[in-house]
Amino acid sequence: MPVTNHHEILRDTFGFDSFREGQEAIITQILKGNSALAVFPTGSGKSLCYQLPALMLPGLTIVISPLIALMKDQVDFLLERSIKVARLDSTLSADETRQVYSDLKAGSLRMLYVAPERISNERFFASIENIPMSLMVIDEAHCISEWGHNFRPEYLKLAIAAQSLRVERVLALTATATLGVVEDIRREFEISPEAYVNTGFHRPNLYLAFSPTALSERIGMLTDKLANSSAGPTIVYVTLQKTAEQVGEALAAAGYPARPYHAGMKNELRAEIQDWFMASDDGIVVATIAFGMGIDKSNIRRIYHYNLPKTLENYSQEIGRAGRDGQPSHCEVLGSSEDLIVLENFIYGDTPTEESIGAFVEFILSQEETFDISIYQLSQLTDIRPLVLSTLLTYLELEGVIKFTAPFYSEYKFNYIVPQKEILAAFDEARREFLVKVFAEANRKTRWSYLNLDTAAANLGENRSRIVKAFNYLEETGKLKVGVTGLRQGMRLLQRPDADQVAQKLADKVFRNETRNIERTQMVIELLNADSCKTRAVLEYFGEDLGRPCGHCSHCETGETDRIRNAERDLDAKEQTQIERFLDQRPIGFKTPRENARFLCGIASPKLSRSRLTQNELFGALGQSPFHAVLKALEDK
Ligand code: ADP
Ligand code: MG
Repeated sequence: MPVTNHHEILRDTFGFDSFREGQEAIITQILKGNSALAVFPTGSGKSLCYQLPALMLPGLTIVISPLIALMKDQVDFLLERSIKVARLDSTLSADETRQVYSDLKAGSLRMLYVAPERISNERFFASIENIPMSLMVIDEAHCISEWGHNFRPEYLKLAIAAQSLRVERVLALTATATLGVVEDIRREFEISPEAYVNTGFHRPNLYLAFSPTALSERIGMLTDKLANSSAGPTIVYVTLQKTAEQVGEALAAAGYPARPYHAGMKNELRAEIQDWFMASDDGIVVATIAFGMGIDKSNIRRIYHYNLPKTLENYSQEIGRAGRDGQPSHCEVLGSSEDLIVLENFIYGDTPTEESIGAFVEFILSQEETFDISIYQLSQLTDIRPLVLSTLLTYLELEGVIKFTAPFYSEYKFNYIVPQKEILAAFDEARREFLVKVFAEANRKTRWSYLNLDTAAANLGENRSRIVKAFNYLEETGKLKVGVTGLRQGMRLLQRPDADQVAQKLADKVFRNETRNIERTQMVIELLNADSCKTRAVLEYFGEDLGRPCGHCSHCETGETDRIRNAERDLDAKEQTQIERFLDQRPIGFKTPRENARFLCGIASPKLSRSRLTQNELFGALGQSPFHAVLKALEDK
């Protein structure tokens, strides 16, 4: 084999002339056998830091990446360069999945991309356990830190997974990390100072302006701003989906090429809007934070925060999408105090009550040694939001109380492509009878019919596999459209500790997270109110000292700061009256003060949404009042 060094591979395989800032330092550490952390801005080439070493290291490189779309792009990029890689995610067919596993076994893959939840899958784990692994890459590594803005429970398990898989070194990658987050990542993966490379967050071509504007005047303000600056690709960030629609419509009505974008829209429409924006020289997308993750457009000229950003990490990531081509770009915040209630209510809505946590712990500890749960059903049962529930389950796993085994689907959902009568007519009598019975077990709803496999098999006294085979056949022959649903997570109960103690520990964590998240929102207010260079203040939050005023922010230009006030205040007489009315009527019965406060502030919970009590006239009656003042008033009653 000819001796190649990393410079040759950079040129010959990737077709690049030189390394970008930080890349070579990281690659050198990886090739030396050290774990490393790269904090580079989005679009600066973090992927090359593992793609290149992966070709030089003997074992497999496993890449943990949370975004399926980005994973796909990377895999295509590498396949075009004849590098043998694969991804394992929920969009692959059974055949494709089998192929990946057999390639893995044969040792023919250089890199494998997987979503983080895969690591909790025992079967997956078992099948890769004995494969020599040279490198584990953790993309969006800030997700492992509870100090970060995008904490993901599965990430907590990655350090343990790296050890069990005997991975030789780990590379953590992120575009945004505060000092606390960097510390967490370095501690988890034992990363030495030399192996931590941060290329800095300062972007001299971004002009940062802050013009907090009353909600009633904001749309007028935005159109003025748009009219008085030169056109160019623009993103307007909003908090709520309905605001995206409203502002999008208002701008379009005013003659701007503007379109809304949010997670509530159909996938095809979203893809179409994204393509339109990518190709446009003056398009305006009015979007929730769902927009931008995979956007690699170099000439975005203007970013407006119509509402306050959630955190400084969000702010920094969102403005970071402007001016990737290095040309001057304008970033302006129009959000004001009136946005705080909505932002904070998102946070309060995630905090379960102590009663809910108690019910959750009791449910888990009363299970058999092996059991399975549906996050959706457990969420209904305990009134805890699904993502929060996943976090609690992960805490229990890290405490050694439970172990995740494998996820599986418990139901088929299907539609008739050919009418049922015609399907049945094509079979002999024995098979027809069987199918008639199976179809009768299904629960027909408006869009799909649902069939629970285990229940149907038990009721019919048939083998589950016979039903599976029948459905496979009907799908393959184009008679039925079949999908799976009813995702369940298999678990093992490892020990039964004292329920009260476990619940107390979880409650402490949950309330600490709430405080931390509220503090993070407060940092946004502090930035707006800072009577000093704004760029410098943002950089300071990420542990970087600019050492001088930037000269390209509204404070440097005008020397002025438009202050906003905090959301905290006491309730007025009208609000007190609403509370009295609520206590007289008790539309949700006698609940805890926290549940009552949530209801009055218009914060939905799994149970409330399901019971349609969110339609009650008092739901959200105090939607513009600070949560803590409402909670306190209810506790004092
Ligand atoms: P990140 O993950 O940091 O957001 P990517 O790894 O996706 O960024 O890289 C962004 C773009 O930069 C890609 O199109 C990639 O091919 C290109 N790129 C990376 N390294 C180099 C380099 N050394 N020279 C030229 N282009 C590069
Ligand atoms: Mg990337």
